Amino acid sequence: MNKLGFGFLRLPVTPAGEIDLSLLDQMTDVFLAHGQNYFDTAYTYLDGKSEWAIRESLVKRHPRSSFLLADKLPGYKMTSHEDCYRYFKEQQDRCQVDFFDVYLLHWLNGKHYEIAEKYREFGFLEELKKTGKAIKTGFSYHDSADLLDEILTRHPEVDYVQLQINYLDWESSSIQSRRCYETAVKHGKKVIVMEPVKGGALAALPEKAGRLLEKLSPDASQASYAIRFAESLPQVEIVLSGMNTMEQLLDNLACRQPLTEYEQSVLFEAAGLLRNSIAVPCTGCGYCVSGCPKKIHIPEYFRLYNEYKQNPGDGWKIAPVYQNMTASGGGPADCIGCKKCEGSCPQTLPITKFLSDVREAFDDRHS
Ligand code: SF4
Ligand code: SF4
Repeated sequence: MNKLGFGFLRLPVTPAGEIDLSLLDQMTDVFLAHGQNYFDTAYTYLDGKSEWAIRESLVKRHPRSSFLLADKLPGYKMTSHEDCYRYFKEQQDRCQVDFFDVYLLHWLNGKHYEIAEKYREFGFLEELKKTGKAIKTGFSYHDSADLLDEILTRHPEVDYVQLQINYLDWESSSIQSRRCYETAVKHGKKVIVMEPVKGGALAALPEKAGRLLEKLSPDASQASYAIRFAESLPQVEIVLSGMNTMEQLLDNLACRQPLTEYEQSVLFEAAGLLRNSIAVPCTGCGYCVSGCPKKIHIPEYFRLYNEYKQNPGDGWKIAPVYQNMTASGGGPADCIGCKKCEGSCPQTLPITKFLSDVREAFDDRHS
């Protein structure tokens, strides 16, 4: 059982903050050499640099028949049906491919679904299939199971649904991982999993939760349980992981068995402990950053804040990191409350409220 897909949203970076192409090339080669072949990108990932990395590291260096490539149309940006063609052509050019093995509408939710219907984006997907420019189609999804049921009832023609599934969000009332998965199963759709490690949160559990997993096996990584949880679901075909080190890649590639019922019950117990200690359930996707007029690195502040809330005694160590971050770029105190970021957050987080919590924790108490 290895359903691993290589997600190009989080990539290795050099100390200067650029994509580390040399390491990425090595990781791409190792991934293929292990018999895995599914790569995933999107028009908006890393401001277009993800599609560039696909071209440089994968398309230019490996035969087209040796990999499957998934890309996503930013359907929510369309202002006409014709826009679909324009963006698709740009994606073909950026990736230097004639066709995509899987082509998805990116980030459907209630608002974006309205746009998709208005500009006949599902019809566009069908046309791509007929002309051989997309082999399979579908959409990535962030909303309720009820809306998913409605969309799949109206559009039974799609092949895949890409869902946020992990053991922390399985019973979440907002993400609704389990209910969305069951809805996809009901409609006979194959599932592609995103965020199986919840943006890294399930690879760095708080101490108590980590000890529970250690008791299962002292050698297995925390991330491996999160990946196995998603891979164990029968209707799941691909589990995407954003990997930025060779160690992560090799760990994810290691042979795995499906989770036992006992292991699953331990993961749910760990999730309960984790849920109580996560102050901001940010996945670190970075969608909120590019539109921010103050260039505030929102997920980095949330990561720091979560660390602080889990280990309040470490505040004295964390505060200087915070001061350095604010000195080198926009900080929570620079936020003007325009809420552009909140409209871009797939997790629908009240970002401005959380930023003010961050500010209160660090600017007020540690200055
Ligand atoms: S509300 Fe604040 S953080 Fe969000 S986009 Fe505006 S300035 Fe940036
Ligand atoms: S705040 Fe939302 S959009 Fe920004 S990185 Fe976190 S989850 Fe992604």
